[in-house]
Amino acid sequence: MQVSIIGTGYVGLVSGVCFAEKGHQVLCVDIDPTKVEKINQGISPFYEPGLDELLERNIHTRLKATTEFRQAILETDVSLIAVGTPFDGREVDLTYVKQAAKQVGEALKDKSTYHLVIVKSTVVPGTTDQVVLPILEAASGKKAGVDFGVGMNPEFLTEGEAVSDFMYPDRIVLGGIDDQSIDLLGELYSGFEGVDRLRTNNSTAEMIKYTSNSLLALLISFSNEVGNLCAAIGNTDIVDVMQGVHNSRYLTTILPDGERIVPPITSFLAAGCGFGGSCLPKDVKALIAHGEKHNSPMPLLDAVIRVNQAQPQQVIDRLHKHFPSLQGIRIAILGLSFRPNTNDMRESPAIPLIKDLLAQKAVLKAYDPVANREAAHILGSDRIDFCDSLAQVLENVDAVVLITRWDEFRSVPQLLSQSDPQPLFIDGRRLLDKHSIDRYEGIGL
Ligand code: NAD
Repeated sequence: MQVSIIGTGYVGLVSGVCFAEKGHQVLCVDIDPTKVEKINQGISPFYEPGLDELLERNIHTRLKATTEFRQAILETDVSLIAVGTPFDGREVDLTYVKQAAKQVGEALKDKSTYHLVIVKSTVVPGTTDQVVLPILEAASGKKAGVDFGVGMNPEFLTEGEAVSDFMYPDRIVLGGIDDQSIDLLGELYSGFEGVDRLRTNNSTAEMIKYTSNSLLALLISFSNEVGNLCAAIGNTDIVDVMQGVHNSRYLTTILPDGERIVPPITSFLAAGCGFGGSCLPKDVKALIAHGEKHNSPMPLLDAVIRVNQAQPQQVIDRLHKHFPSLQGIRIAILGLSFRPNTNDMRESPAIPLIKDLLAQKAVLKAYDPVANREAAHILGSDRIDFCDSLAQVLENVDAVVLITRWDEFRSVPQLLSQSDPQPLFIDGRRLLDKHSIDRYEGIGL
């Protein structure tokens, strides 16, 4: 199929590259000419494992990036809108979605053949039918369901694993205003055999995405709340508590030979310094705001956000246990991105934590395998010494704080074993064995 993708961020570019890999002809459209230029040179504008390789293989054969909206719509059969939908402090900000819909609609005015418009951005239930569809009709002067189709296809990829998530999806949700829209959207995914497909309306498709993210956020905040109680009680460890919980037959399947199948959901039933990223915080907040708008408050999700926002303080409290004042205390920060294998810093718990430490006049060093530059851009580089290696960041410090679960950090016990005296170590993710470091402190311990 001939596909245009509007917005070449994490979702748009990964979708575009993967659809090209599956054999479609893809035009990626963005308003940012620098991004477009980079993509056309075969370079991804952001770090994502495996993406550069697929991009290089498909660029200029099945994939091209452009800033030319009209041409992209005219030359393709299907357009996917994958622009950002940030939270503006009150509700989901649909500015970019509305702009993209208007631009697609204006191009459709000059199109004589049927076109399918799909919303791939995460938007609150009702947006595709009540906001995007009317904009498309007004801008094109054409009729949805007759001249063009409209659908909603939420994306479930996780940054850091985006390419494999997209190439091997766990589900494909096909929302649409009619069978023709859903059938054509289904054709776009014809190369993804054996994956469960759910045909539904647009509003339900939109709600599936929010519900999925809200559940994950809920499990994390639940684990953090219980972990904080474990720490307050004393002599109780959240890691062992959760191991006992995971072993429930409701969570793990026990095969006839006694082997346990540990489902990935248990990774969300773990305490840490809080969730971040471009999705969970903003999506939960947007759903709460949407609930209020519809007179259906969501106190449970309200609490999920409150618990999460308070969680970085758990790290500060542990530092204060050992250093009543942090002024002049030399602290190494391990990991800056919101999760491993990405340089995305959006809503990373590292940001409020580092700001607080700087306000308390701590002396900071930091190291992230790929996000140093992005973090320096957000936090400034004048008061933080960004290091090039793990060994370097661990040199001459009073305390070490682990924020991101990078695999590389598993070698910290060995590296610290050579330090004399040993710095205090605070495990913000419970990544390491608590017995592997002398002065170990962890969330939920
Ligand atoms: P992003 O901020 O990385 O990218 C958005 C892109 O859209 C930018 O390159 C921007 O220049 C471009 N853009 C904005 N307005 C445009 C316009 N009118 N025409 C063309 N391009 C335009 O965003 P993202 O992280 O890829 O997220 C996109 C959507 O997908 C959001 O709704 C998000 O919630 C959802 N989502 C994101 C993830 C994720 O892990 N990042 C996962 C699932 C769903």
